[in-house]
Amino acid sequence: MSEVCKFCGGPELRPDMVEVGPMPGGTLYLHRDQTHPGRLLMVSARHVRKITDLSPEEYASLMDSVYRAAQAVTSIYQPDKINYLVFGDTSTHLHIHIVPKYRQGKDWGKVFLTDEPDPVYLTPQEYQDGVSALRRQLGLKETEGV
Ligand SMILES: [Zn+2]
Repeated sequence: MSEVCKFCGGPELRPDMVEVGPMPGGTLYLHRDQTHPGRLLMVSARHVRKITDLSPEEYASLMDSVYRAAQAVTSIYQPDKINYLVFGDTSTHLHIHIVPKYRQGKDWGKVFLTDEPDPVYLTPQEYQDGVSALRRQLGLKETEGV
C-alpha cells in the first residue's frame, strides 16, 4: 500500500507549514506553530529517509541552505540560539527542524516539542510578513500569497 508523502505531495498535505521557497538541496518552510518565533523546517529535495542516504554533494547543498536559513532567521528574529533537530523515527522524508530559542521564551535550555499541546498561531498577514521577510533575506523570489 502506497501513501503519498507529506513533502512530495501537494501543499494540501502540509497545512501545518507555509512554503518560503526552494533552495539548493531542499525546500524551506515556515512552521505554522510559532511558539518559537521564526521556527522553520528544511525539507530535503530528494525523498530519502536519512542523512546517510544523501550523496556528499546533496548533503553539502542541504546543509548550506540550513546555514543560510539560520542566518536569515537570526537577522530577522534575533534569537539567542538556534536548535537544529533531525528526528525522523517515523518520517520517511528527511527534514531538519530549525528552531530559534529565546532566553525569555518557551523551552529555553530544554528540547522543544514538535507537537506543541498549545501551539501559537499567527494571522494570515503575519505568516505572509514572515515569509516575505525570509524571502527577501534569502534572495528568493516572491510567489503567490500564503
Ligand atoms: Zn517525500
